[in-house]
Amino acid sequence: MKQFKPAFPKDDQPFGIYIHIPFCLSRCVYCGFATTAHDPAQEEPYVNAVMREMKLWGSNGDLQAPFVTSHADTIYIGGGTPSILQVGRLILLIDGCKSYFRIAPDSEITVEINPATAGPDAFRKMRAAGINRASLGVQSFHDEELQAMGRPHTASETVSTFRELREAGFDNISVDLLAGFPGQSLDRLRVTLEKVFELAPEHISAYLLEVKPGARLERLLYRGEIPPIDEDLVADMYEEIVSLAQRAGYEQYEISNFAKPGKRSRHNLKYWTDRVFLGLGAGATGMNGRVRYVNIEEPAKYVAALNRATLPRASLTELTPEARFKDALIMGLRLVEGLDLDILGERYQVDAKDFVMATIGDLAGEGLFTLDRDRLALTSRGRLLSNVIFARWV
Ligand code: SF4
Repeated sequence: MKQFKPAFPKDDQPFGIYIHIPFCLSRCVYCGFATTAHDPAQEEPYVNAVMREMKLWGSNGDLQAPFVTSHADTIYIGGGTPSILQVGRLILLIDGCKSYFRIAPDSEITVEINPATAGPDAFRKMRAAGINRASLGVQSFHDEELQAMGRPHTASETVSTFRELREAGFDNISVDLLAGFPGQSLDRLRVTLEKVFELAPEHISAYLLEVKPGARLERLLYRGEIPPIDEDLVADMYEEIVSLAQRAGYEQYEISNFAKPGKRSRHNLKYWTDRVFLGLGAGATGMNGRVRYVNIEEPAKYVAALNRATLPRASLTELTPEARFKDALIMGLRLVEGLDLDILGERYQVDAKDFVMATIGDLAGEGLFTLDRDRLALTSRGRLLSNVIFARWV
């Protein structure tokens, strides 16, 4: 390989804003996210703290670029369960973004919603406040599976919530599904998928179960209280999801994501296309091009830091151009269309093709990826075994 010395790219594209709401009704057994039990008394101090964090960005020295010099065109409120908040507080957060940052008028503004945590009145107010995309946590359409997962809602509540969102004017809805949970079968997964297709959301995120460290699932498996995960079955499930979703008119555009034409998640594309993003809230992560930061995860400590008017950092990592280049490769390859090595090389002022061939060229005969002119993409087998390739770049 020629000398590999990339330069930082120009980050001149609009950024995305992620706001984390760390409260949930109860904890799902597979959950590895930063969440805590919902206590209504915590809502107001927490939202006030996020507003203070927004304000502090204006006086945050060199970290603030590009968040005050450029503009955002996506806002994503995730969690946790954002829909558990009083709707007025969600709207306050959107308004806060609009007063502290420049937000493009046609921005994609998404809120994650869990079934049965909010109803028609809240949905109408969200739409009126400019929230134009809902991400609904469906996971399964079998009540027994939902119960085993520790989800605090039934399948029929999911359907009602979906219909209420539509009636409130949400014409861009994504649903989250979980495949590979112990006890799930291919037939039952097909039934869940059929019910999803009947509802006809614009976007589907289908995640394969991962055993996250510290999740209750880990202990249940360890003690043998639920059957072990059948990896072959999980692989079959993944293939089934891909094939049935495509047949139902959804384009697979990322390892776990499927969309109707024109309905890809603009916010998540920021992560997959090497864009900068601002993270606000407990446990949130942000990246300004040169630095990646992670906020304090525990809500009470996060609020306390902001009450002292200090930025709530748990960690700050200085990035190198090489680390960013490798991240860009890994994240870009999550997209089914892959990435253009010529464009990537130009962004980082290196020969990206030369780097790729030097690092994974020996895997060329394994059917894991294709390199067509300058476009590098994983094959469907490569998407299942992507860690084999990504391990070469971490
Ligand atoms: S709703 Fe989501 S964030 Fe909350 S406990 Fe369940 S998986 Fe975790």
